[in-house]
Amino acid sequence: MKLLVVGAGLFGATVARERALKGDNVTVVEKRDHLAGNIYTKEIEGIQVHKYGAHIFHTNNQSVWEYINQFAQFNRFTNEVIANYKGTIYNLPFNMNTFNKMWGVVTPDEARTKIKEQTAVLLNKQPRNLEEQAISLVGVDIYEKLIKDYTAKQWGRDPKDLPAFIIRRLPVRYTYDNNYFNDTYQGIPIGGYTQIVKRMLDNPNIEVKLGTDFLNKKEKYLKEFDKIVYTGMIDQFFDYKLGTLEYRSLHFETEILDEDNYQGNAVVNYTDSETPFTRIIEHKHFEFGKGNKHKTVITREYPEDWTIDKEPYYPVNDSVNNGIQKRYRKFAEEKFPQVAFGGRLGLYRYYNMDQVILAALQFLDGKFFKK
Ligand code: FAD
Ligand code: UDP
Repeated sequence: MKLLVVGAGLFGATVARERALKGDNVTVVEKRDHLAGNIYTKEIEGIQVHKYGAHIFHTNNQSVWEYINQFAQFNRFTNEVIANYKGTIYNLPFNMNTFNKMWGVVTPDEARTKIKEQTAVLLNKQPRNLEEQAISLVGVDIYEKLIKDYTAKQWGRDPKDLPAFIIRRLPVRYTYDNNYFNDTYQGIPIGGYTQIVKRMLDNPNIEVKLGTDFLNKKEKYLKEFDKIVYTGMIDQFFDYKLGTLEYRSLHFETEILDEDNYQGNAVVNYTDSETPFTRIIEHKHFEFGKGNKHKTVITREYPEDWTIDKEPYYPVNDSVNNGIQKRYRKFAEEKFPQVAFGGRLGLYRYYNMDQVILAALQFLDGKFFKK
């Protein structure tokens, strides 16, 4: 079969690899000039720089962990994020260290009592949005200092207008444990992420064409290939004819500094409203002891509204957008049965890397390739 995969990110690479191993003749077109989509890393001063934002691999799924470990060796990095609120430092995610610094409480019972007092404002109602969900989990003080302004900056909306599930991504713990994730497996690939995708696509049955936008020759590709797996924006594929999906974008400002250690941690979040960026990443801390000892690379991350000329980093999964997305999926299935949509943009889902791999593996087992 002649298969076209659009996008050389993690979803596209997983599909391309597995189908090539089954003997398909696979072409991968990627509009950027490099592989790996948003997990792309590039070496600067001996440091792996995460060009599209900090990427920490974490999963509970043993088979996904084993799958990704075929392509790189992972270190023991544990993400322990620091929040800087107007110069005061708090530990994230919300745990006994955060509660102790915020209120002076020492035991889990004291913390529970304090949070219970602070959630009284909700009058025992079910949380209907991100603000109510956050207050119900950690109380008003933490919401005001560590969540409200960060979230407003990140999403460009009042947390009252955002879905509750976004904040449930973060653990709340009554232990002194600063691990940002609860997953069993976590780490950073030694030598960066790009090698992973490079190895996945290293197969004589795969031809990769970088700097090639599918949409420039859409009709030609539709005729030429038996099947197409599309990992770009589903609304763009259809020229936005059923409506424009909303995305959140980012811009990154990267600097090389003449010092060894700028902030002492890989990720520092700035949770106040005055600081225009949400976080600073210091890339060398992802890989212990690597890189030039006299230099460090930092990236400030500025969230921004998405417009057509910008990268669509985050889907905005509210009910309006999810409804539009469903209409596109239905239309696609009826009119273009030879095209499948996958990945964060194709499925319009706020997927982590492990979820992308799992979704790709499940998709490979599904009906699309059996037809
Ligand atoms: P992408 O990586 O976006 O790949 C899609 C590719 O398709 C892109 O390369 C794009 O250029 C290409 N493309 C699109 N349209 C066309 C076209 N018309 N023609 C040709 N090519 C096209 N996940 C984690 O697990 N841990 C983290 O710490 C983490 N941090 C993140 C931080 C940020 C700032 C962001 C934005 C995401 C983060 N993620 C994280 C999520 C992770 O980036 C995604 O799960 C993963 O990269 C999605 O892979 P994908 O293949 O679906 O999409
Ligand atoms: N969040 C917050 N303060 C922080 C970090 C996160 O309020 O210091 C909120 C914010 O709304 C964010 C959500 O928690 O969108 C999920 O955080 P996560 O780190 O998972 O965001 P992502 O990885 O998508 O950037």
